[in-house]
Amino acid sequence: MPSGPAYRRVLLKLSGEALMGPDAYGINRETIERIAGEIRAAVATGVQLALVVGGGNIFRGVAPAAQGMDRASADYVGMLATVMNALLLADALERFGIRVRVQSALRIDQVVEPYIRRRAIRHLEEGRVVVFAAGTGNPFFTTDTAASLRAMEIGADVVLKATKVDGVYDRDPMKHKDARRFEVVSYNQVLEQRLGVMDATSIALCRDHNLPVRVFSINKPDSLLRILRGEHEGTLVKG
Ligand code: UDP
Repeated sequence: MPSGPAYRRVLLKLSGEALMGPDAYGINRETIERIAGEIRAAVATGVQLALVVGGGNIFRGVAPAAQGMDRASADYVGMLATVMNALLLADALERFGIRVRVQSALRIDQVVEPYIRRRAIRHLEEGRVVVFAAGTGNPFFTTDTAASLRAMEIGADVVLKATKVDGVYDRDPMKHKDARRFEVVSYNQVLEQRLGVMDATSIALCRDHNLPVRVFSINKPDSLLRILRGEHEGTLVKG
């Protein structure tokens, strides 16, 4: 019987789409509660868990709705969307009995803590889940890059990228029936073949600091738990 989790500290990246579930926009209540249940099981293993949440279910700086807008302004709206998601997710986690703090890269002091690296680490050591909101706090970036950055800052062992697809494929599995899933793929392969995993900035950051990324489906029950037990799920991106 394996004792304890395979990792000490992990950074889980949840896209806005993951919270959307079957809906076309916003947050799906059943989906967020199911994810909260998976996170509760993960926390029960003793692993220290930090989350970066996206905002694509509400607003993206590059979305058609933002056309004609100043890009930086549109990106700030996108970052604020991630704060809403973070608050909703934190609320759901608390209802599942999980102790949680939200830290934002943009200051919204009445609502969330500002991002303070040492304080975030302290929360994790105390067994609290930390949800990082507002991405990196900078326009022209993504929450995937925020996930890589925060993972390195807090000394996470791995980035767990939760998606709707169960790993990295050689082509779009939604369009091609014969698409092949990689068990392991290198950072450079992802960059050179433009495999749709994370944006190039976030992958390059992970590559340069040798931070492994595991891409898996959050819709597959217990997949997070299996990863924490050291079992193979989805695709591992490494050097
Ligand atoms: N965003 C940004 N800087 C960041 C993170 C996010 O400007 O560091 C903005 C950007 O407009 C992005 C939006 O917030 O489109 C939502 O984030 P993202 O697209 O990464 O969300 P996800 O796809 O994970 O739901």
